Amino acid sequence: MSRLVVKFGGTSMGAPDRIARAARLVAQEVRAGQGVLVVVSAMSGETDRLVGLCNAVLDRAEARGSDEYDVALAAGEQVSSALMALALRNLGFDARSVQGWQIPIRTSPAHARARILDIDGDALGRALDAGEILVAPGFQGVTDGWRVTTLGRGGSDTSAVALAAAVKAHRCDIYTDVDGVYTTDPRIAPKAQRLERISFEEMLELASLGAKVLQTRSVELAMAYNVPVRVVSSFVEPGEANPGTLVTAEDESMEKRVVVGVAYSRDEARIALIGLPAGPERIALVFKRLAEAGVNVDMILLNAVGDAGATDLAFTIAGGDVVRARGVLEKLQEETGFSRIDAQGDLAKVSVVGVGMRSHAGVAGTLFSALAKRGVPIAATTTSEIKISVLVPGDTLELAVRALHTAYGLDAA
Ligand code: ADP
Ligand code: ASP
Ligand code: MG
Repeated sequence: MSRLVVKFGGTSMGAPDRIARAARLVAQEVRAGQGVLVVVSAMSGETDRLVGLCNAVLDRAEARGSDEYDVALAAGEQVSSALMALALRNLGFDARSVQGWQIPIRTSPAHARARILDIDGDALGRALDAGEILVAPGFQGVTDGWRVTTLGRGGSDTSAVALAAAVKAHRCDIYTDVDGVYTTDPRIAPKAQRLERISFEEMLELASLGAKVLQTRSVELAMAYNVPVRVVSSFVEPGEANPGTLVTAEDESMEKRVVVGVAYSRDEARIALIGLPAGPERIALVFKRLAEAGVNVDMILLNAVGDAGATDLAFTIAGGDVVRARGVLEKLQEETGFSRIDAQGDLAKVSVVGVGMRSHAGVAGTLFSALAKRGVPIAATTTSEIKISVLVPGDTLELAVRALHTAYGLDAA
């Protein structure tokens, strides 16, 4: 029997009638003769509500996101899994929920950002072949010491793809509140277009640069285990057209678009250490200490100033990490000898992505002239083989996304 994993996100699980519709979509696949494993997110807003409750009880900011948070947060998905199993039973199917710790989905002990280490799919596969519909909560796992973990926000996508790989499903369908992957977030650019297909590589880049339609880690896993992923709408009834977007390995027939999409992330901050005396060891120490404190550094800019060999070292981090980074850097000031810290918040990163960039010149020129024409200032730039990112003021984000979408010919007619 061929096996399929289907995942429903928070909006798709957001109310009883939506859960009932999701169950009908699952039923359609079961009737088509597939063994179906369903993965569900918490009802929309529920994870935020649970985070809020934890924060209200614990006011020590540095202790946030710890093990007991994971116990509380995992409850959102637990409830959803039971509701989905009940909705399927309501349609006359043999359905049962299996929690992360029962499967078990073994993860690293890094609470709030655990990584899946291993899932034994044999027993799950046998149950599917015997005609049972299994419903697994997304987002949650368990450590070797039997502590509950969660996989980071948006992590149910990753649970779904990991389970698809574990049970050797032929595909993983991600049902969500958009009908596919678009050339950019359709909430920002009304002229965004749905893509028929996109390569793992491009999707990975878009996701890691902020397109939250799929969690980055889910795309990494899909690519590593070669699990085709289909992003489709959960707002249709069974039988209605729902072509979605297929995320797969790149094949020869895939058109090599120069730019396939525009991604963005809000709430970026730029930190500069002014007058850092020369010496690679000092720079290494700065990044080492930031990493030890769990601060992720993204773009890095080095500017030699004056003849004395001093450097202005600037880098970007998530806005939420500024307080922690400042704490780390202030402790380093004496040891490294920089003169002051400059922090600038409320920035955004806008990126254009496409495998065709490898073989096309002039991609950067188009970007700079499109932004210059709209008067959008650029605070920093980074590039890789298949992407260019720019840091812009937060209040120009939407303008910049739309300008680039138009400039690369992505607008719908
Ligand atoms: P779910 O709750 O189903 O996991 P998410 O809210 O995590 O859904 O992801 C879907 C959202 O991702 C869409 O509503 C859309 O606003 C956003 N999004 C961002 N970039 C894109 C893109 N390129 N294509 C489609 N959706 C995108
Ligand atoms: N419920 C979790 C979140 O809101 C996981 C998910 O929906 O994928 O981030
Ligand atoms: Mg999501």
